[in-house]
Amino acid sequence: MAPLRIEPVGCLADNYAYLVSGDAVCAVVDPSEPGPVETALKGRQLTHILNTHHHWDHTGGNGALKQTHGAVVVGPQKDRDRIPGIDVGVEGGRGWSFGAHPVRILEVPAHTRGAIAFVFPNAVFTGDTLFAMGCGRLFEGTPAMMHASLAKLMTLPDDTQVYCGHEYTLNNARFALTLEPGNKDLQARMRAVAAARAKGEPTVPSSIGLEKRTNPFLRTSSAEIRAALNLETADAVEVFAEIRRRKDAF
Ligand code: ZN
Ligand code: FE
Repeated sequence: MAPLRIEPVGCLADNYAYLVSGDAVCAVVDPSEPGPVETALKGRQLTHILNTHHHWDHTGGNGALKQTHGAVVVGPQKDRDRIPGIDVGVEGGRGWSFGAHPVRILEVPAHTRGAIAFVFPNAVFTGDTLFAMGCGRLFEGTPAMMHASLAKLMTLPDDTQVYCGHEYTLNNARFALTLEPGNKDLQARMRAVAAARAKGEPTVPSSIGLEKRTNPFLRTSSAEIRAALNLETADAVEVFAEIRRRKDAF
């Protein structure tokens, strides 16, 4: 079985949809709009549309793409009534098959109640839950829920490639450096990200290991971050909540 090929597709101002293709299957993850997806397909037929959560900038292309391609729409069972055109509802603990490729579903609520991540061999699509050096806003959940959802993602192997829903990386890196300016991995990543963006290149994918070393939302035990927040003895969720509050105001 040939390995899956993954291609980012820029949509709207800063969204990423992704084409995932293998033998006899071709999916798009989180199509914001149909146009850029059709361009990237170059005549190929879509078999599946995968949605990580219900927001319009991740599902806006469902209707038109489903109609054109007859693709099967797969999304979170818990949010069935908010996913346009959904055919297959998936949930944590129950696998789903993309052609011959087994896919694991992780339930990662907090950005939205029903948010899920699709775990392919060596790749995870995290939607707006985990970003490069960031995490999603807490629209439908608490800091404790997001902290737990991120912890679930961190159980994946360090070399797992992370494909997130937006190109927010440069701004996320700037924020991260306000909390942890002494983090050498973060300094190096900022340089790499700034260089990529200056050339108009995407900063995805990231990896679980790189996120562990540079994403402040995953680094609630960092002494430097705790000192910056004056929360040396607080528990991890309190530290997480304060980082999220500061990022909301950044
Ligand atoms: Zn969203
Ligand atoms: Fe989004």
